[in-house]
Amino acid sequence: MEDKIKFMRAALRQAERGLAEGEVPVGAVVVLNGKVIGRGHNRRAKTQLASSHAEMYAIDRACKKLNSWRLEDCDLYVTLEPCPMCMGAALNARIRKVYFGAYEQKGRSMTDELAASNLLNHTVEVEGGVLGEACSELLSGFFRAMRARTAAQRRAEGQQEGALPADGREADGDGAAE
Ligand SMILES: [Zn+2]
Repeated sequence: MEDKIKFMRAALRQAERGLAEGEVPVGAVVVLNGKVIGRGHNRRAKTQLASSHAEMYAIDRACKKLNSWRLEDCDLYVTLEPCPMCMGAALNARIRKVYFGAYEQKGRSMTDELAASNLLNHTVEVEGGVLGEACSELLSGFFRAMRARTAAQRRAEGQQEGALPADGREADGDGAAE
């Protein structure tokens, strides 16, 4: 199996862990010399921190493992096209190449611009669409389920409202008693 497929599968496994925790399923791994040295999945819902993206964890863990902020010979694999914060982190860490799976909706990332910007005197190679279908199916499945839950909740709420008596005073009374 091609290395990039193998490591994107490892990133997908991280995304699935996120999914099991009710997070938007995005996973990432950092690879050095054919070995995974950092893993992470999105944990934003749990931590309520804007920085809790999969790539940030994978990069932090790789740095800790190497005891160095420089990940010069390392590659980052992530299931979704990275946001500017994570591309910034990859550049800061001097990541060699970023592989991502699903493409972000057009115009919502600046991956190519950031990769080529020579920001921090470093350019990073980028390759998108690695196992793109599997990565995007995981995400769209999550959002489909979320929309279905929201719709079911709305319906349930709508039914409750419909069940209230037409008389306004009684309806107010019900509300006040809660
Ligand atoms: Zn990000």
